[in-house]
Amino acid sequence: MSGKADPRAAGERTTSRARLDRGRGALGPALELVHTGRAPTRAVLTAELGVTRATAGAVAAELEALGLIRVDARPGSAAGSQGRPSHRLEVAEDGPVALAAQIHADGFRAALVGLGGRIVATAPGCETVDADPAKVLGSVVEAGAELLRSTGRRCVGAGLAVPSAVAEPAGLALNPLHLAWPAGAPVREIFAERVRAAGIGGPAFAGNDVNLAALAEHRHGAGRGARDLLCVATGHRGVGGALVLDGRLHTGSSGLALEVGHLTVNPEGRPCHCGSRGCLDVEADPLALLVEAGREPGPEVSLVQQAGDLLRTQYDDPAVRRAAEVLIDRLGLGLAGLVNILNPDRIILGGLHRTLLDADPGRLRAVVAERSLWGQSGGVPILPCTLDHNSLVGAAELAWQPVLDDPLEALAGSD
Ligand SMILES: [Zn+2]
Repeated sequence: MSGKADPRAAGERTTSRARLDRGRGALGPALELVHTGRAPTRAVLTAELGVTRATAGAVAAELEALGLIRVDARPGSAAGSQGRPSHRLEVAEDGPVALAAQIHADGFRAALVGLGGRIVATAPGCETVDADPAKVLGSVVEAGAELLRSTGRRCVGAGLAVPSAVAEPAGLALNPLHLAWPAGAPVREIFAERVRAAGIGGPAFAGNDVNLAALAEHRHGAGRGARDLLCVATGHRGVGGALVLDGRLHTGSSGLALEVGHLTVNPEGRPCHCGSRGCLDVEADPLALLVEAGREPGPEVSLVQQAGDLLRTQYDDPAVRRAAEVLIDRLGLGLAGLVNILNPDRIILGGLHRTLLDADPGRLRAVVAERSLWGQSGGVPILPCTLDHNSLVGAAELAWQPVLDDPLEALAGSD
């Protein structure tokens, strides 16, 4: 071909641009469909968006030009919805990333997470959490900044998961019961300030770790396709819950909904950090299992790992089995109450609760069914979470959200 502009190609570009102008509002929805794996081909994208093939093609081409997805046009690479070969759509392997950070009772971790919930790189977790949130958040952001430097990836923003309810709109960690942090620490503001100081582009967000785990599982894991998704999980210490309704986290009027850890499941039980007694938080968490089984918690690895290992390797021991049954019954009682109030179409369990479900799924399902009205009639599916590091992936989802809402605007605004 000569160096002169091909008028036909220029004409095609103009047509494509006009189609994109009509399809601009479809960029975000299209990206979300590829991001969540619901549009593996251009034919499916066309059908899901309800646009013409030409518009879907222009939208996919623009997302590819932005470096967000890859359009694979090799014939026969995938079957279209009508059985014809269609272009395959994938998130770009070398595309931008979000910086994700998680603080838990035994330390912190930083990671870079691409579209599709793919963890691109992680920094080894630290094992102590300072009583000053600014110090911890400074360290985790520095670990993330080092990952960005070593990979050379473009960053769209940063998200933080904390083991505490996060009060909105101010972004305060209201009750970090298992950290030595002061109640009401302005974690989002501190995190955002550290992110800016480290020269990392894009906005910064913060949320509760179990809320973020639920969001990640809804988009990429065991919660996909659920409409009223209830997630209950232990962290390293304590118990949290979350509800995803029609794809959005239900956080209540000020971010504090679904504090399921403080449901009473044993009125005569242990005193709880919240001032009450017998809460799920202290009756069905990793420490409770170790104590119930008569095991002395050791300092070597986290409590959640010790408790999980105990269930996985010593379930034949009658004391361990008995302890598991006690915890399953308490968890089932809590879940039954939630099922009656929320009528979810799926329940997913994370942390130690996932391991308890694996240990005796029949017992847990029976307790929930016996104790709940909707559980009896509907048989709510109870499934294990499937993603590794789902709170980190969910923290990244917060940072990806502006890009999913309006890719052109968000990427024009970041570095
Ligand atoms: Zn409590």
